[in-house]
Amino acid sequence: MYYASDKSGNRVFIDNAQKGIDYYCPACKAKMIMKCGNIVAHHFSHKARKLCDPWYKDRMSDWHRKLQSMFPEDCQEVTVWNDSHSEVHFADVMFSHKGTGHVLEFQHSPITRKEFISRSSFYLGLGYKLTWIFDFCECEKPKKILYTRKNTTEHEIDLVWPGSDRVRFLDNLDRFQYAEIGNFHIVFHICTGLGEEVEHSLDNGFSWSTWEYVNPFQKEYCFVEPRSMCLDNLADFEAIYYDEEEFYELLSITANRAKRERNNKANATGTPCHK
Ligand SMILES: [Zn+2]
Repeated sequence: MYYASDKSGNRVFIDNAQKGIDYYCPACKAKMIMKCGNIVAHHFSHKARKLCDPWYKDRMSDWHRKLQSMFPEDCQEVTVWNDSHSEVHFADVMFSHKGTGHVLEFQHSPITRKEFISRSSFYLGLGYKLTWIFDFCECEKPKKILYTRKNTTEHEIDLVWPGSDRVRFLDNLDRFQYAEIGNFHIVFHICTGLGEEVEHSLDNGFSWSTWEYVNPFQKEYCFVEPRSMCLDNLADFEAIYYDEEEFYELLSITANRAKRERNNKANATGTPCHK
């Protein structure tokens, strides 16, 4: 984890932590130790190695940190309890806007359908608007290969994702439960280029087709949000398109809005926005 509490309950970022001072988990209050090696990002770890949030794992990638750190510190890694205070999770980013809580989850490592559903249900059930942002650029196992079906128009893209690398559980999400209430968004960070369907055949008449890049060296990084009606089949889908710069700009506008709202609230109540 990147944040812990000191004995007065102040939130401390790992790079501002000092040796010789005790730090505690903001959720379960267990003692934390500082991990400041050279391989993974500096972080706090539960001393007893038992993490109070089983969903908090593999959050040490540069990709994850880059997106998360665009937001004010007290909107990052926010402790979110359920109503009965029996379950706790750390939202990657949480902020409120016009009275509604928003949660952003950045997902770099593979996730199971079961965990995806549990995490989505947890935040949606508490009334948050939820946006998942998946990193499909740097995935190696398996590499995520999506093709652009035709040249992109300004804010629309048609994509084909035909391979076994597709995240199958996204093909059969219950869209009535999630997509149609407008409080649930999924965004993919991908690297894609124009593709074409190539026909193959054998002398015995057997034929099949594959998708290939028209020019494998002409690919671009972008963010795409599948249109909600496409969330039951991502083999071939339409999405809203953002080039990288545009998407980072959108995140930074959102972050600044969160910052302003937090400052207004702090001025009004004398407390910061996080729970
Ligand atoms: Zn804990």
